[in-house]
Amino acid sequence: MDELDAPLSSRLTAPAAALLAKELGLETVRDLLWHLPRRYAERGQLTPIRQLVAGDDVTIVAQVVRVQPPRRMRNRDGALLQVTLGDGRDTVGLTFFARSVRQFAHHERQLREGRTVLASGRVEVFNRSWQLARPDYQPLDDDSEDAAALADRPIPLYPATGKAPSWKIAKAVQTVLGATGRVPDVLPAEVVAEAELLDPLEALRAVHTPRDRADVARGQRRLRYEEAFVLQTALAQRRAGAASERAVPRTRRPGGLAAAFDARLPFPLTGAQQRVGEEIAADLARERPMQRLLQGDVGSGKTLVALRAMLTVVDGGGQAALLAPTEVLAAQHLRSTTAALGDLAAGGLLGGHELATRVVLLTGSMGAAARREALLAAASGEAGIVIGTHALLQEHVAFADLGLVVVDEQHRFGVEQRDALRAKASSVPHLLVMTATPIPRTVAMTVFGDLETSVLDELPPGRAEVTTVAVPLQNEAWVDRVWQRVAEEAALGRQAYVVCARIDGDDAGKDPADGGEEPPPDDGEKRRPPLAVSDVVEIVRRHPATAHLRTEVLHGRLAPADKDDVMRRFAAGEVDVVVSTTVVEVGVDVPSASVMVVVDADRFGVSQLHQLRGRIGRGGLPGTCLLLTEVPEASPAGQRLSALVATRDGFELARLDLEQRREGDVLGAAQSGRRSSLRLLGVLKDADVIADARAAATALVAGDPALERHPALAAAVADRVSGETERFLERA
Ligand code: ADP
Ligand code: MG
Repeated sequence: MDELDAPLSSRLTAPAAALLAKELGLETVRDLLWHLPRRYAERGQLTPIRQLVAGDDVTIVAQVVRVQPPRRMRNRDGALLQVTLGDGRDTVGLTFFARSVRQFAHHERQLREGRTVLASGRVEVFNRSWQLARPDYQPLDDDSEDAAALADRPIPLYPATGKAPSWKIAKAVQTVLGATGRVPDVLPAEVVAEAELLDPLEALRAVHTPRDRADVARGQRRLRYEEAFVLQTALAQRRAGAASERAVPRTRRPGGLAAAFDARLPFPLTGAQQRVGEEIAADLARERPMQRLLQGDVGSGKTLVALRAMLTVVDGGGQAALLAPTEVLAAQHLRSTTAALGDLAAGGLLGGHELATRVVLLTGSMGAAARREALLAAASGEAGIVIGTHALLQEHVAFADLGLVVVDEQHRFGVEQRDALRAKASSVPHLLVMTATPIPRTVAMTVFGDLETSVLDELPPGRAEVTTVAVPLQNEAWVDRVWQRVAEEAALGRQAYVVCARIDGDDAGKDPADGGEEPPPDDGEKRRPPLAVSDVVEIVRRHPATAHLRTEVLHGRLAPADKDDVMRRFAAGEVDVVVSTTVVEVGVDVPSASVMVVVDADRFGVSQLHQLRGRIGRGGLPGTCLLLTEVPEASPAGQRLSALVATRDGFELARLDLEQRREGDVLGAAQSGRRSSLRLLGVLKDADVIADARAAATALVAGDPALERHPALAAAVADRVSGETERFLERA
């Protein structure tokens, strides 16, 4: 057995091993050695207290500023000791509790004023000042020789918990590292030599017990490269596998359905739609399954591109499935597709065009009869286009000849879901994944390494201006003005979306239909809960300016038929205002809607707000986007809103979003909706490493597709892939 698989209890005391297992889920030597420091501190450099984020478990370097004499508590038994730490500018408090004041003697000896300590705890705001709850600490400048020798070494700071503080983890790591003789290398020797990397054990020593920053950098470089290489090997294998898969080539028929549809388009295609359409047509005509990611900003006309691809496949004798992330969107796709096709969608019906096909909807909540009919239409091949949600992934949904799968808004579908759908065809269907979230090239390469990318980089003409304004919620007159704007637009026959962060007052009021969207970064303040749909609909219905309007609510807890009904009436102009959650975020298309009000806009991420804003300014009508917020402009959330006011460039905003989130989270969310398993690799900052690893991995897989000559690498790849699957299953 590999010594890395040895249980920690064979290296550490039983209580120490049990603590690491319970607090951090670390069971084996490998788990612990790959529990890497998140940051490094230096004795002389105090941590800026200002940067602490409420709710985080942190470890900081700070100086003891003041120790108040211990005292008995007034209303309860017991005593407390209050200690203030500082960084020279701000302070943070530690409070210790004990049965009697005498029990503080140890703390008082250790925490003398002026000393530097490593302190940990959960950041909280109490009585308007920072506190570390359940604090623990370790003096840094004790006068033992040991400490002197270590004086200028970087101090590793580990992801820790209150019961397993960073320094306890460090101690365990040192013990285990000292007893580890060899770490087998997953990288082939040629790759190590070529990239001039450290040996794995050296690298682990360098990151866990560095002598200086250069050690840290060398060690991290090796570990990052390894991580990138394993991932890129998995992707290279996936690509190689896909290349050997067979698909049925599909081409348009002269005088067929796709041609008939193009002939009646009410507008010319944009240059970008034309170009991407040709790329897709070329892919569909091949015997290899298409694997294409279609990126385009909100409103760039992706849906039309996808529809033309679907019609091409129907022309070629196959069926197409369109997967939407929510039922509202699936229903809308059905409406817009049937509207766009007109009598071309009336296959088998009286008055249908001779070339017509059938378009059916299949969702989880449909009535049994409608569902049976849709299932039958899919299985018999009568339906050329099947539109649905996750329900399409269920096993008993069968297709006569599934030739193309289109996935709208990829970030809510993982690799496994795509594979499930592809398994529904006798030969592998072509795949087109659409996304409005601009994905930087490096991210696309890493996460979607097996997809080729097309970009719609041109908006259809006649796209109207959208004016964005941030409105302070504290200013009543301005908020009144917001509702007047809504009423003015309604008087012109236009409509308004009002979007809230929650459904109702109950804490679990977050919309389940919101999917796996990551919350925006927390800015570290305890704030009131955001206003809910149930609050805001009352405001709109009572406000003198808007009381006369037809206002409805829309969110994921409504029955699907009700949701659909509200959206349909809104689209038809029978509803003036919908107060909703972010179910309208992606893809909903109502050209006559001209106002978007986002309540507590600071609670949303940049990309999310950009998507929301994309719902208006569609039908050639100038739009108004009003971002209601309480946060000051100078705060991080305020800065996000200012960026939205300043630009409508989705790529620019995506860059900002990425900067504000931890990069790994973005990758994780894109991949599985959970925290990334990438430990060190930053998709943006490590673009070079990723590119190098990709080239080396591709070459290696070309020479040894099954990794028969690289068993350690094969095991690492298998581990990584099963990790992904596990995360996916946990989520489902
Ligand atoms: P996306 O899905 O990329 O956000 P849509 O496909 O919903 O964008 O398109 C937005 C709107 O633009 C739709 O109303 C659509 O009919 C319209 N549209 C698409 N292509 C064109 C075009 N070439 N010219 C004019 N309007 C277009
Ligand atoms: Mg769309």
